[in-house]
Formats: sequence, structure tokens, C-alpha cells
Amino acid sequence: MSKRIYLASPHMSDEGYEMEYVQEAFDTNWIAPLGENVNEFENELATKVGSKAAAALSSGTSAIHLALKAAGVGEGDIVLCPTLTFSATANPIIYQNATPVFIDSDYETWNMDPKELEVAFRKYGDKVKVVLIVHLYGLSADMDRIMDICSRHKVTVIEDAAESLGAYYKGKHTGTFGKFGVFSFNGNKIITTSGGGMLVSDDEERIKKVRFWSTQSRDAARHYQHSELGFNYRMSNVVAGIGRGQLKVLDQRVIKKKYIFEFYKRELGQLEGVNFMPINDWNDPNYWLSVITLRGRVRPLDVMEALEAENIESRPVWKPMHMQPFFAEYDYVGGVVSEKIFENGVCLPSDTKMTDEDLERICRIIKRL
Ligand SMILES: *Cc1c(COP(=O)(O)O)cnc(C)c1O
Repeated sequence: MSKRIYLASPHMSDEGYEMEYVQEAFDTNWIAPLGENVNEFENELATKVGSKAAAALSSGTSAIHLALKAAGVGEGDIVLCPTLTFSATANPIIYQNATPVFIDSDYETWNMDPKELEVAFRKYGDKVKVVLIVHLYGLSADMDRIMDICSRHKVTVIEDAAESLGAYYKGKHTGTFGKFGVFSFNGNKIITTSGGGMLVSDDEERIKKVRFWSTQSRDAARHYQHSELGFNYRMSNVVAGIGRGQLKVLDQRVIKKKYIFEFYKRELGQLEGVNFMPINDWNDPNYWLSVITLRGRVRPLDVMEALEAENIESRPVWKPMHMQPFFAEYDYVGGVVSEKIFENGVCLPSDTKMTDEDLERICRIIKRL
């Protein structure tokens, strides 16, 4: 059996940057709790994306949770959220005892449809506290239209940019349009720390507050005193060391991801019934995953099974939240766009360690079908 090809696996730098920072943490015994790597990783990431401040946290999910808390979301509030996403976007809305309302995608962006967002505002008006945007697979949402609608309704915007580190909308980094932006460094993201997340904002005071909550809300007192609910959500100094090293190769990773997408497009773009995820003029994606949709006889499952038979990993598109048993009780605004993308979509292997031969092998298998 040939060596396994992954959807997207961790890819440490050839230069060994990550080990240098981790070694530094060992040498100074700053293994835990905090330390230089955490502070520097926050500064370096904030600079990279163009935000004033950042809080390094244990996951993207915890960053979404504290963003919602920082935005004042609580019981009785409605959070508008795209249906076509990973469940980690929506779960923290429930942690805060708020109510999600799911919104359909459009075919132009695969992200939240601004027209359906307007429909949701007409329906829920003042009850809407936050609009949570996702930049799916590293494709940015239509931010001009969405920000325009949200500012008219005076609601806070949070961007789940977990999949879009390195992706820009009209030259501005995704995750920096709203009040808060969230990044993830989970194992299969474009850069990884094995697990981790970051919350960015231009509001330095709110970021300070998030750091406070994330370290158990310890008051400035000699004894252990707490006036607020606390969380154990802070990133460790070892993990942050990996992050600093990975950040140095982010641009390289985006270049390779784009190369992979263009390879597929060249090889498979002519095939009857194969379409690619939408790339807009205003969009500089990070191409985290290369996603196609299929029309006609060959179904996504056929492609996934044919690849798996050759030890190659691929995945379906995220199953929309309004189709999930857990979220079925919540309202959904939209049509069938996200359902169609889910039914017809396949995430092709997008691992940055793939060679041209690997890519040729994958394309051969798909062409054979
Ligand atoms: C990965 C991901 C998250 C969660 O990030 P974790 O670091 O795994 O908690 C949230 N939203 C989206 C869209 C993701 O893809």
C-alpha cells in the first residue's frame, strides 16, 4: 500500500523554528504557566493580521466562547450564525445560554448570504445581539455588504476566522472587520500548535478582560479571590512556542495551498460535472482546503471511497447546523443552498506536504471515475 495521503496534517517548518522556541521555554523553565512565547505569539499574530491586541487561548472554540461573553451575549439573546460551518462555531452560543438562528449560504461565497441576513433582522430585530461570521475553507464572506447591514442594525460582529488565517478580503485580513476575530491552531488548520486559538480585537481593554477570564478570573488580591466566573482557557508557553515557529511559515503554506488548488483546477476543471469552490475578485483566500462540487452520475461518496481504497483521505463538506439533530430545534432562515453544497461537495486532499506525484495520483483516480 502506498503511503497515506492526508486531508491536511501538521507541517512543521523545515528550519526547525518551532523547536527553537520550545527549547527556549525548556531552557528558561517557562513550561508553565505563561511566559515570553505567549506574549510574543500574541504580538506577532496581532501584527500579522493587523489587529491592536490578541489573547492566546487553548482553542478556537474557547476564543469564540469568550468573544461572545465579551460582546455581552447571554440568556435571551439571539446570535445569527451561518448554517454551513463546523459545530464549534455554534456550540459556544449554547454555552452562553443564548439562542442561535442559522442563516443560509449563497453560491457566490458559500458563506452567509447577506439577503438572508436581512430577512433574519426583519424577523428578530432588536433581539439580535451578535452576528457571527465564518470564512469557510479560507474563502472570505462578502464583508462590505455584511458589515453595512450589521452597522445599520448596530450589532456586534464576531468573525470565526478559524479556517482563514492568511486569507484577505480586499487586502484586509479576515478576522479584523468585526469587533472580535477568532483563529484556530488545531491539528489540521493551515498552521497548528497541536491545539490552540487566538482572539483578536482593536479593543485592548476587552482583550485584557478576556485574558483575565481565561486564567480563572483571579482578582488582584493576595489570597485567591474571585468576583467573576472564571475559565481555564489560556494557551501554554510550550504551545505558543510552536505557534511562533509556525507563523514564520504561514505565507509559504498559503502559497502551497494555492498551488494545490490550481493543480486540481488545471487537471479536473475540464471534467463534465465538476465545479470548484468560488474564488471572487475581492478575495485572497488561503485555500485551506480545495473543495469541489459534483453534478451528475458520480457522487461525492464515490470519489471519497475511490480515494480511500488507495489510502487517500478526503472529506464531505460540513453538514449544515440546521440539519444537525442537536440544533434542529433552532430557527433557520434560508433555502437549500447550504444543503446542496453539502450534498454535492467533496474536500480534496490539501496537505501541504504532498508532492506533484501525489497530486497526479489523486487526479488520475478522480478522472477514472
Ligand atoms: C476548527 C474550527 C473551529 C474550532 O477551533 P478549535 O481550535 O478546534 O476549537 C471553529 N470554527 C471553525 C469554522 C473551524 O473550522
